Amino acid sequence: MDALIEAIVITDETGVIERCNKAAVDMFGFSQEEAVGQNISILMPPSDSANHAAYVERYRRTREARIIGIGRELNARRKDGMIFPIHLALSEITYRGTVRYIGLMRDLTDHKKAEERTLRLHTDMITASRLTTMGEMAAAMAHEINQPLAAIANYASASERILARGLGNIEDIKAALHHIKTQSHRAGDIIRRLRSFVTPGSVDLEPTDIKAIIDAIKPLAEVDAHANNIAIHFDVSTNLPKIVADQLQIQQVLLNLLRNGIDAMQDCDPEHRRLELHCYIATPHTIRIDVIDCGHGITEEAGKNLFLPFFTTKTSGMGMGLAISHTIVKSHSGGLSFSNNLSGGATFSVTLPTKMANK
Ligand code: ADP
Repeated sequence: MDALIEAIVITDETGVIERCNKAAVDMFGFSQEEAVGQNISILMPPSDSANHAAYVERYRRTREARIIGIGRELNARRKDGMIFPIHLALSEITYRGTVRYIGLMRDLTDHKKAEERTLRLHTDMITASRLTTMGEMAAAMAHEINQPLAAIANYASASERILARGLGNIEDIKAALHHIKTQSHRAGDIIRRLRSFVTPGSVDLEPTDIKAIIDAIKPLAEVDAHANNIAIHFDVSTNLPKIVADQLQIQQVLLNLLRNGIDAMQDCDPEHRRLELHCYIATPHTIRIDVIDCGHGITEEAGKNLFLPFFTTKTSGMGMGLAISHTIVKSHSGGLSFSNNLSGGATFSVTLPTKMANK
């Protein structure tokens, strides 16, 4: 037992420690003498140790195993009180009529840290990609915000002139102030949407209205499309069931697909530049969103690599948009696919399970 790397603790039927190996001593900080004779609950965090006796009792009564023979990750407690994550594989043996439990434990502290690091990297990458999308839209946004600012300046100058002449009509000034208010709200609205889109947030999977997600990105996509002389059209079915989703991440996916559609139409005749987003129920448990453009479409060669990180055919592309969108959609148990349209251009489709299917 002492030669094993994994910690072993053997208890009797009531949970009193009978033996433990050297690895367990190292892991928990108790000497073998200190541990033997104590209840196993000394190795558990207070919240678990309080319930342990009841667990043991219930198992002895019902024989319904929640952990024995299954193995699971849980928290353990060192002698100095430190709580740390472990994997516990628990088995029951009966020898000459005596029942004993053998717990095999592995310290997961490093493993958890690595997992957290990976998760953080993943979230950072998603945020970075969102910032890239915003970077690509920056020119259109600057233009959109400049317009109300210019209007505000004009109304303010006009009001000043009216006042300077001394015989100003108060009604004219009132009207100018009203315009100033409306225009500043318009600029503020764009900035607010931008801000909420680029702020890194925690991942929140919750029942969500897909229409609200689309409504949130609509003004941003419209600004971008109009700046590129593209007619944009949204068609969202009514009474769509909820999806379980992280709103910001799905916004990111859709905005990315719309942005790609805009890029794909840069060389098209302005007359034919049209971008559409359709959202509808595809199957009883799936919502589907199609983003349809009239751009250059996808070559067979590009089609093989679209979802690979860093694949791009654009001079200033990063090639992360579709790779990240694919990851996001998969983490929502959904799908992302694409096809060329018969009439030219491409369609990218996102499918997402509805709340009911997830239950
Ligand atoms: P990026 O936009 O930085 O290139 P993406 O991962 O979003 O990164 O896209 C990867 C590549 O997929 C693009 O460079 C382009 O070749 C292709 N692509 C994406 N969307 C479309 C589209 N709607 N039509 C044609 N090609 C597309």
